[in-house]
Formats: sequence, structure tokens, C-alpha cells
Amino acid sequence: MKASLSFTESQWQELHAHLTSSDARERFAVLLVGYRMRRGEIALLCHRVMPYADPSLVDDTFGIRVSPQGVVSFVNAALALGTGVVEVHSHPGTVRDVRFSPTDEEGHREVVPFALSSLPPGSPYGSVVVGGASASGLAWLSPGARPVPISTFRIAGSPDGLFGDGMCRSVSINEERYTRQANLVGKDGQRKIGCVRVGIVGLGGTGSVVARTLAYEGVRSFVLVDHDRVVTSNLNRLDGACPLDAWLRRKKVSVARREIRRIAPGSQVTRVARSLFSEQALEQLTACDIIFGCTDNHGTRLCLNELSAAYLVPYIDLGSGMSAEEGVVSEAGGRVTVVMPGDGCLLCAKAVNVRLGGHELSSKALQEFAVAQGYVEGDDVPSPSVMSLNQVVAALAVTEFKALVTGFRKPLRQLLYDLLSGSLAQVAFSTRRTCVVCGGCIGKGDLLGLTQRYANERRNAG
Ligand SMILES: [Zn+2]
Ligand SMILES: [Zn+2]
Repeated sequence: MKASLSFTESQWQELHAHLTSSDARERFAVLLVGYRMRRGEIALLCHRVMPYADPSLVDDTFGIRVSPQGVVSFVNAALALGTGVVEVHSHPGTVRDVRFSPTDEEGHREVVPFALSSLPPGSPYGSVVVGGASASGLAWLSPGARPVPISTFRIAGSPDGLFGDGMCRSVSINEERYTRQANLVGKDGQRKIGCVRVGIVGLGGTGSVVARTLAYEGVRSFVLVDHDRVVTSNLNRLDGACPLDAWLRRKKVSVARREIRRIAPGSQVTRVARSLFSEQALEQLTACDIIFGCTDNHGTRLCLNELSAAYLVPYIDLGSGMSAEEGVVSEAGGRVTVVMPGDGCLLCAKAVNVRLGGHELSSKALQEFAVAQGYVEGDDVPSPSVMSLNQVVAALAVTEFKALVTGFRKPLRQLLYDLLSGSLAQVAFSTRRTCVVCGGCIGKGDLLGLTQRYANERRNAG
């Protein structure tokens, strides 16, 4: 059994600033956490940071001790939101190999049984001690069970751990293959690209280009989600597909996997030939480091937007489209939006049509009713789609992916490409105070019940 603890960038900054606010005194904070619990692995996901500055709640004469009122107050805060708890404190004198002190261990013996019996059943309780360049932690999952060591501390989207504890140190790179891009992303950046697990939802016009480009760039682990098969009318834009694929009606995920493996043999490719609204797809995506949304479907966007917030997975959404008739184009272009959990989402960016999304997520009967009544347009006329436009949008998205993973610069949050004028505009956005996703979903993980809401309800709706 292993455990990890993940933060958004701003959560970590807030916590770190509090913990390091004194060179001499220990500092204490509480994290309310959601989680992703699977066999053999628990990912603790930070929902909220609560720095404790009130001296009446904390006594640090001989190492930090929280008063009974302090414990009751944070257990109540967790109960109100249904989350678990991780207590965090600093050892300012220690830089490397920080460890719990005997005082800390005595505190655990007192607090953990009380907290576990008071929190909602199944909610974990954790304790973490942070030094100058190291951290150490334990997570208790049920009363009486042995605690699990928290071995990885991460920021959403970064494959490397906060204290050099990341999983990608062991990744080896064929340096000769990447000599020509080492100047941009660096050897270390190339290694990071090589160890992220990327989810791609939709392997059509843009998704197929994204998949092949990522394989060339050095990504080696993919989750591909698309229930569709290749037909002849896809062959104007489906990257890597040939007439035989259409004749055999091959699955789009299988064509993409074949192309990825031709470019990068040995890549790990998990195919999910199902809709996003299936248990398998949602389950696989919650374990990705970054997700690309490559469907022009607003229901999909609403779902991925929530998943991104709940499981702290950055999400790059792509859109492209045009209105044209017989060669007369009235508008055409594309959009790339980079959703960083905790720093504004697709709703904050106004990049998703909530009304259309709701329509797409409703039952077939309701959809037919809405179309018949003229509330929404039917989608029986396929919209025009061309490869050169999709390639521009996919290339912009992959560039922002590289910025995010390697840090050669900060990712640009939103780009709009206008095909008619050839212009590219950057449109920034930030968290809206009233946003339900940014407010309530961050780090909630399994507690949000995404699978039940999106997979099961939709199946029941038919
Ligand atoms: Zn301590
Ligand atoms: Zn938001």
C-alpha cells in the first residue's frame, strides 16, 4: 500500500508560506482532503488549506501539540464537508530526512483514534511533517489498521515530486532522438515529458493529431477514450487513418494506438473504446497526469471540467469549427483553453456552453423533445471539419502542454485562432468567485461521485 498527497500550485504556496513563516517556531496547519482510493494506492487530494495561527489552539513548547478544542474544530470542519483530514507541521531546524519526533508520535496515539471515529466512515486521517527540503507522512485509513507511509508529495500537473520524490527519476531518454528539441525543453524537461500519463478524450480530427504529435514529442504513456469507429468521411482529417481502416471500420482508439506505436514502439497505450460517460473511461482518466479534451461536445466538457477539479488533473480543452456553405465561409477558427485546477476552470473561462452541455447530457427522449420544440438545433447535419485547421489547434495545445510539463515558460491559459484573419489572440481568465466547480469540487476526488452522476445516471437515462 502506498499513499501520495497532491496540491494545486496556490494551495502549496499558501501552506509553504505558513510553514516557513518562522525560522525558530514550528508551524501547524490542517488540510481538508478528498481522495482517490484504489487497491494498493491512496491519493490524498487537497481540498482546502487551513493555516493555524491562533496560539490558543496550538502549544509548541516541546514540539507542536494541538489543544482538544483545536482538534474538535478541524474535525468539525471536515465533517461539514465530508472530507478527510491531514495535519501538517514544520520542523524548522531540519532540512533533509525530516522525521516525526517522539512528541509527534505521542500526539498521533491520542488524536488519530478520536479523529477516525469522528470522521465520516472511510475518510482518511493523515499527518505530515515538513522540513527545509524534505517531508514525511503517514495516513491512517481505518481504526486499528497500520498507517500507510505518504511517499510522494506533488503539485497538480507536475510529474516530479516536491522533494525530489517523483516517479520520473528512473525514466531513461534516447538522447540522440531528442537532440534537436533539447534546447527548448532541456534534458530534464524531456525526461518529464517521458513520464507523464496523458489522457486523450476523442480521437477524431484534433485528437488524432494530438496523439501523434505527443508521441513524436516523447510522451510514452497514453489513455485513449473514444467509442467511435473509422468511416470514409473521416478520411479527410483523421491523422494516420487510411481507406483500409474505414473499410474494416476499425476503432479510432486502435488506429491511434497503432500510429503511436509506429512512432514510439514500447509506448504504454490503454484503449477505452467506450463513451467518456462509462465507468472504465472515468476511472482511467482520474489516474492521468494531464487530460486533452478533443471532442466538440459540451456535455463532455462539463464532465471533464469537474473531473479535472476533483482529481487535480490539468485539462487542456480544444475546440474548432466553421460555418461554411459551398465554399463561402462566414466564420472559422479554434480555441485552446488550459484549465489548471484551482486557478479558473472552463466555466470561469466561459469556454463551455452550459445549456448545450445540459442538453447533451439529458436522456434521448428529452433531447428529441428539445429539438422538436426548437429549444436547440438538431445535430443531424454534420458540421464542416478540415485537417489544416485541426492541426493548428492541436499544435497550439501540444505547445501549451510542453510549457506546463517542462516549465520552459508558463502555459498561456487561452488562445483563440481566427482562420479568416489568420490572427491568434490570448484571452486570460481567472477564478470567478461564484464558480461552483472552483469553489466546491477542488480535490474532492471520489467524494464527488462523478462515476455515479455521469456514468450511471446517463446509462439509466438511456
Ligand atoms: Zn514534530
Ligand atoms: Zn471555475
